[in-house]
Amino acid sequence: MLLDLVFPRRCVVCGSDGAVLCSYCEQGLERLGNPLCERCGAPTAWPVERCRECAGRRIAFARARAAVAYDDSAKRLVGAWKERGQRTLAELAAELVDGVVPRPSAYTITFVAADHDRLLKRGHNPTHRLAAELGARWQLPVVPLLRRAPGRAAQKGLTLAERRRNVRGAFSPTAAVPKTVVLVDDVYTSGATVSAAATALRKGGARRVEVVTFARAVR
Ligand SMILES: [Zn+2]
Ligand SMILES: [Zn+2]
Repeated sequence: MLLDLVFPRRCVVCGSDGAVLCSYCEQGLERLGNPLCERCGAPTAWPVERCRECAGRRIAFARARAAVAYDDSAKRLVGAWKERGQRTLAELAAELVDGVVPRPSAYTITFVAADHDRLLKRGHNPTHRLAAELGARWQLPVVPLLRRAPGRAAQKGLTLAERRRNVRGAFSPTAAVPKTVVLVDDVYTSGATVSAAATALRKGGARRVEVVTFARAVR
């Protein structure tokens, strides 16, 4: 593969030679298994329907699940995956998701639309890749259903309130949306982005949106 020549096989987390993610670092990723908050997927001491993080919040999705905690290792993995667009990393991320998150029952799988400028710069949309890999594993058709309004600031570095304001109304549906949809994103940070995207999917006709991300910030 051409990419292998450009990027020699080194672990994206620790830099050791061999695999894109060595088994040591792979095992070191913190899986987000039960118990979790039923709604937002935050790790909890025991199963709860709402947690400190999501109680009282208006959230447009029914539930959110992620494979691993967004710690330093996961950050490096996501960073490499986004910047290099390596297909192996998207496959790896999907494999981890599939190993941790039960297959949601839905008609279709879609993904958070990339900002147009970033898409041009990178030439690929990491979340589209992840959705495609998951769609293949879960046997769900992958359909682009969202459009993102141009010219918004990146979410990075904003407070929770700013994040919510920043993404409000940022998405719109591009087609009629099936009743149940899986919405894929790379990282769940505050939930503001996926909630805004889920709002658009519901406007388009979805009754239930289940969010699946590779990683999730854990407070
Ligand atoms: Zn490693
Ligand atoms: Zn919660």
